[in-house]
Amino acid sequence: MTRSFQAIVVGAGPAGSSAALTMARAGLDVALVERGSFPGEKNMFGGVLHRLPGLEKIFPDFWERAPLERHIIKKGVTFMTGDSSFNTVIEAGSFDRPPYNGYTIFRPRFDRWLAEEAVKAGATLLTRSTVEDVVMKNDQVAGVSIVGRKGELRAPVVVAADGVLSFTALKAGLRRPTFDPGQMAVGVKALLELPSDVIDERFGLVREQGFANEFVGCTSGVRGGGFLYTNYDSLSVGLVFHLASLKSSGKTPYDLMNEFLEQPQVAKMVRGGKLREYSAHLIPEGGYKMIPELYGAGIVV
Ligand SMILES: Cc1cc2nc3c(=O)[nH]c(=O)nc-3n(C[C@H](O)[C@H](O)[C@H](O)COP(=O)(O)OP(=O)(O)OC[C@H]3O[C@@H](n4cnc5c(N)ncnc54)[C@H](O)[C@@H]3O)c2cc1C
Repeated sequence: MTRSFQAIVVGAGPAGSSAALTMARAGLDVALVERGSFPGEKNMFGGVLHRLPGLEKIFPDFWERAPLERHIIKKGVTFMTGDSSFNTVIEAGSFDRPPYNGYTIFRPRFDRWLAEEAVKAGATLLTRSTVEDVVMKNDQVAGVSIVGRKGELRAPVVVAADGVLSFTALKAGLRRPTFDPGQMAVGVKALLELPSDVIDERFGLVREQGFANEFVGCTSGVRGGGFLYTNYDSLSVGLVFHLASLKSSGKTPYDLMNEFLEQPQVAKMVRGGKLREYSAHLIPEGGYKMIPELYGAGIVV
């Protein structure tokens, strides 16, 4: 069955749900189309949502309503060579007061909440719906088709918010089909369970304060870096590698992650952590050259 809307947003990540919510609040009949069984189901990132004026525009009391883990009061960088290192840490009083400066979050919880807010504002959320193509009419995008569904979704405007490797933008001819490994990185992350009082004591935190630390020189010669973020009762620990450099090293992300976790400076931070999950995702690093055309007839990326 073909259904018609005033706008279709493909992808219920932070960008898509924000777009759908904003249009729904403006009174438009919007479809928010997501391939996961719920928004955020398979979405991952390192873990710190930095303070965003755009988000505060949508929700002035954002930090009261969103499912957040800890607010970041301390940011550190550890510079490492072998078993030697030095640290820099920034700690600011304003980081500990609303609206804070950044928060650790879990994407499955956060993305789901944001999409639910879009639904409360009037958007129609369609989950388990993978967009497979754009529908063209008179040389302009007029809707999308969904894998395994008969009929189409029609609208005068489609918003492609299906991530940095937007399939919808590709189908609309707005981006190139291939990427150069020299322009890509891969991020891998382990979630380690640790009691909240251990996290508080180990990192010098109280209440729901959090710590975000980046690492330089921790990737055994592969171009990249590391991170450790405190959630309420777990740590998000990971590495980001330049893909071409990883390939020429002959190492696997798994090897490098284990080497990272065993380095003395890192080992003492993660001691006792129980592995809850692993995840990984590509990250485009090509900058301006990788940005697709941002709009076409009937579509905006
Ligand atoms: C390893 C890693 C670590 C990162 N760490 C951080 C960090 O700590 N802090 C930070 O601010 N940013 C971080 N980022 C960047 C951040 O994740 C992105 O900027 C953010 O996710 C972009 O949001 P988005 O809504 O544009 O896209 P996405 O979050 O990618 O959402 C796209 C949505 O579209 C859906 N979708 C995709 N294809 C289709 C389709 N064909 N049909 C229907 N639905 C579809 C997906 O399921 C998803 O829900 C990190 C990224 C990576 C990869």
